This record gives sequence, structure tokens and C-alpha cells, in this order.
Amino acid sequence: MTSRAATEYRYEKLTWPEINDAIDMGKVCIVPCGAVEQHGPHLPLDVDIVCPQGIAYGTGRQIADKMLVLPPVWYGYTGHVMDFPGTINTNYTTFMEQVLDIAKSLAYHGFKKIMLLNGHGSNMPNLDLVARRACLETDAECILGAWWRLLQVDPEFLPSWRESKFPGGCAHACELETSLYLYLDGDNVRKDRIENGDISFNLENNPFNWCDLFGSGPATIVNWTSSYTDSGVLGEAELATAAKGKRVYDEAVKQLVRFVTWYKDRPKDRRKLRHRKAPTMAMPWGQQPIDAAPLREDGPKSNGKKSNGKKVPARKG
Ligand SMILES: [Zn+2]
Repeated sequence: MTSRAATEYRYEKLTWPEINDAIDMGKVCIVPCGAVEQHGPHLPLDVDIVCPQGIAYGTGRQIADKMLVLPPVWYGYTGHVMDFPGTINTNYTTFMEQVLDIAKSLAYHGFKKIMLLNGHGSNMPNLDLVARRACLETDAECILGAWWRLLQVDPEFLPSWRESKFPGGCAHACELETSLYLYLDGDNVRKDRIENGDISFNLENNPFNWCDLFGSGPATIVNWTSSYTDSGVLGEAELATAAKGKRVYDEAVKQLVRFVTWYKDRPKDRRKLRHRKAPTMAMPWGQQPIDAAPLREDGPKSNGKKSNGKKVPARKG
């Protein structure tokens, strides 16, 4: 009988023996990370979870044999948005330690390919450091991605999709987030309350200080959200449609399928010690010693450990 690990993409729906099978299959683990945060008068507080989780699930349904989606990290770093009711902030240290602990747990069990799929802009610097630390403090590889960046893999996608101004039309509760949410959970959009909103400092047309989801000025001030918007909407939400959300979803899923398929079997790059004399003490920051990580020259197959004698279906090319 085939293990359910071959067809289930939701991590928490597996049993522990099936987790052993998933490890044998070299599955990539995707951890959606978001925030509970205001998204204007028309979108619920869970936008930054619904979007990355929806895309990860859509990808999992296509390539369940290659990946697992972890339960999302709901609470993110959003201290600058606390002037809006409903926003839940976690201290950046709490947030980073929690996500790092998830990555370390996965690595300890034997998953060696992890992706943090982020849905909340201000998580990015925190998760960047988490991914770096996970790479140095475990023998797994951990990559940070943001769902909207999947739309930039094909340089022709966004120019053919976007109607709003740049910069500022796509930033927060905007043309992009509203479209995707309309597609994924349209019943929960307050459609009669959709209104555009400006980022007030963008209107100064200053070459240094401006922002958008797809770029920002070279010296942009990251300040209290309530100081540059009244409604909490940053962008042209009135241009959003569910049909545009479907196009975004299809494109993001397509690119995430490509990514996971590539990442899963890519052998880990080799470390080489350049010291003439080998260091005489342990790495002082909890990082992995050079020979702790077993090299997997032929990809994940060589980390294959036995799993209760259960047969795992052969992996496709
Ligand atoms: Zn958002």
C-alpha cells in the first residue's frame, strides 16, 4: 500500500510513520508566514495568511509527492501598524525565534529543504535572518520567498497584469492583495467598502522616499503606518477583480511548482575550510561544524534512512 505521504500535502494531516516516509521522499517543507493585521475597511485581518497559504495549497494539490505545507505562522512583526485596531504584533525576537524553532525542528527530523513563504512585507527582514540562521545552525537549507515575488519570475507577467500606477498602486490592501483575496475568499470582502488609498509620502514625488510592493526608494523611511494613510489602504483597490486574482493565483502556483521541483533535488553546495591549520575550538555562534552536515552529492537520496520498512513510491525524474 502506498503511504499517504505520497498524496497528502498538508503536514499536520500526516502521522509520524508517514512523516518518516515524507522524509525519505525528500519532500520540501513550505512554511507560510503572515500576520494578523489591518487591511483597510474592505479586507479582513487575515489577508497575509490567506494569500500565501492559498498559493502553497494550490501548489501542493499539483505536486503533493514533492512537498508539504506546514500550518501557517499566523502572528508576525507588525509593530508599526498598532495604531489600527485588530493588528496583533509579536516582538521581532519572539517572531524570529518561533520561525527558527520550526525550521530547526524540521531539520532535526530529517527535512533538508525548507521554504518560508511570506505574506507580510514587514516580516521580510526578520525572515531573511531566520533563513540565514537556519542554513548555518542546521544541516538543512532554508530559503525565504514572498508570494508576490513569484509574479516577477516571468518578466512579462506583471506588465500584462498590472493596471495601477507605479509606485504606490500595489502596496497593501491594494490592486494585488484585493484581487487575490476576491478570488480566494470573495464572500469575506466588503465589496461596498472598496476604495483606493494613497501613501501620502509617495505624493511628494521624492526620488529617495517612496514605496510599492515591487520596489522602493533607496532611502525610504519605514515609519508608523497611521502617519501616511487614513484608511489603511495603500494602493488602487478599486482596480481589483476576482478574475485578476485568478490570474495572479495561477501564475504564482505555476512558478512555485517550478521552484519546488527544482529545489527539491538540487544537491547542497559544498563547504571547504580554507584555514591552513584547522580551528581548535567549536564554532562560537551555535553554527554547524564543517563536517556535521552529511554531503549529499547525489541529492536527497543519500540521506535516505529506513522508515519502518515501509515502501516509498519511487520519485519521478
Ligand atoms: Zn497584506
